[in-house]
Amino acid sequence: MENSDKNFENQALQFVNRSVSLILESISDRDNSHVPLRENEKFEQIKQQISLSKGGGLPQHDDVLLDAFGTVLKYSMRTAHPRFVSQLYGETDLYGVAADFLTTVLNNNVHVFELAPALTTVEALAIEHLSEMFGLVSSENNSQAVGIFVPGSSYGTLVALFLALSQKYEDFCVKGSGAYDLKPRVMCSEDAHYSIEKACLLLGLGLNGVCKIPTDKTGRMCIGALAEALDDPTHSPFCVVATAGTTTTGVFDGLEPISNLCRDKSIWLHTDAAWGGAACYSESKNRHLAGVERSDSIVFSAHKMLGAPIQCSALLLKPKHRDHLTRSVNVKAPYLYQTAENPHADSHDISKMTFQCGRRGDALKFWFMMQARGVDGFRERVDGCVSWAQELETEITTNRSHSFEVLHQTFSTVCFWHRPPFMSASSVRDVPIHSDEWWAIDKLPALVREAMVSDAYPFLITHCRSGNHPSFYRISFASSIRAQDERTRLINELLDYIEGKTSEQPVDHGLLHAGLT
Ligand SMILES: *Cc1c(COP(=O)(O)O)cnc(C)c1O
Repeated sequence: MENSDKNFENQALQFVNRSVSLILESISDRDNSHVPLRENEKFEQIKQQISLSKGGGLPQHDDVLLDAFGTVLKYSMRTAHPRFVSQLYGETDLYGVAADFLTTVLNNNVHVFELAPALTTVEALAIEHLSEMFGLVSSENNSQAVGIFVPGSSYGTLVALFLALSQKYEDFCVKGSGAYDLKPRVMCSEDAHYSIEKACLLLGLGLNGVCKIPTDKTGRMCIGALAEALDDPTHSPFCVVATAGTTTTGVFDGLEPISNLCRDKSIWLHTDAAWGGAACYSESKNRHLAGVERSDSIVFSAHKMLGAPIQCSALLLKPKHRDHLTRSVNVKAPYLYQTAENPHADSHDISKMTFQCGRRGDALKFWFMMQARGVDGFRERVDGCVSWAQELETEITTNRSHSFEVLHQTFSTVCFWHRPPFMSASSVRDVPIHSDEWWAIDKLPALVREAMVSDAYPFLITHCRSGNHPSFYRISFASSIRAQDERTRLINELLDYIEGKTSEQPVDHGLLHAGLT
């Protein structure tokens, strides 16, 4: 190395030291509830502050760079903030943060065992653990577990649908869409995640490849309607996607009746447990996830409720699908597989199970978090999120039923309405669909959400639609470990805020009398 290169390396190392101090400082202040969730600046303003050397690309002094880190911190969403509720992720687990830093420094590419021996082994251990938690293997034979970490559950679902399609149509991997006559269809509930539609776009099935099954009163996929759709002779179902914890309502589809139908018709069952999979660490496991072990494939995102740094997701398969996975995904790459003389290494090459080439070792952070907290620690976090949601529901139904109404409370999600004073029905559920009153109620959450943005995010909550209901507020707690009195205070502040903002809206009578539709 030239002398000047060496000097530069030393300087860079010093910069790492200085920036780590800055980052640690930001961690110690990350759940400060006295600062706003984020600065309310627009793209152009942030761009001006963040672009250092406009046009020239000249090297910047370390002090300037450190300031720039500060700017990035300043204009970022504070996801560990106690009022950052409803995005399905939140405060990261600091053991996961430490392991993620190590993953970055190692820079091991987790495709062949030879190039990432420790991370490949950790990934296998994490897959064994998760497969056991979901009942795909037992603790005696967990070394048979099959799965990989994937960059997000959306991507995992894409791979699962590919496997389902290539299992049903043996020629699919060679002939592509020439392998089938009838249109292949994947069935899922109308509240299922949009990643299923995106997967169908990529698999060449188009949006028509998705057959959406209505939900019943409880928000679950309607079993009768699913059975009917599976019998429709005009298309050919190749997969049912059950959702364990929907994004909008938190509801778990009935995995047992769905898996019975899939067994009878020999159809691949994929369970999207991206959000609700965390229930496998919870007291409510048996209620929500009964039957999940009968899935052919499962996706789960540990970066949601468990608090792993984004991204940290796994695709788990039934052990009997191992050969199908490696046969369907694998293509020849002699430049990579140069250890044929070492049969041990060969059988652990993850590259044969994935469409990726370069892969980050996302399993390490999950594994470290698990080692640090134990299964009990995970259970505490998950049950803490659930009890926070139960407290919100109780506050609404016991103290505020005159002004609020709960649609669903499942797992850590609460869906609720503010009952506007002009409402004539005794329940929002009874307001006739698409009546003036229905539309007026439907508008309110978006208006309150807008007020929230212009008030510089005192909270961040979401509004959603489901079934025939007008829009409702949806809160999903994903960070849990807070003092009881702080939780209570936050719940009350939030409901007061919604109530206050609603009464400021001119919509109440105005919209109704203007006959807004
Ligand atoms: C978040 C979510 C996904 C997507 O998961 P990513 O890991 O963010 O890709 C899929 N399904 C459901 C039900 C989700 O809530």
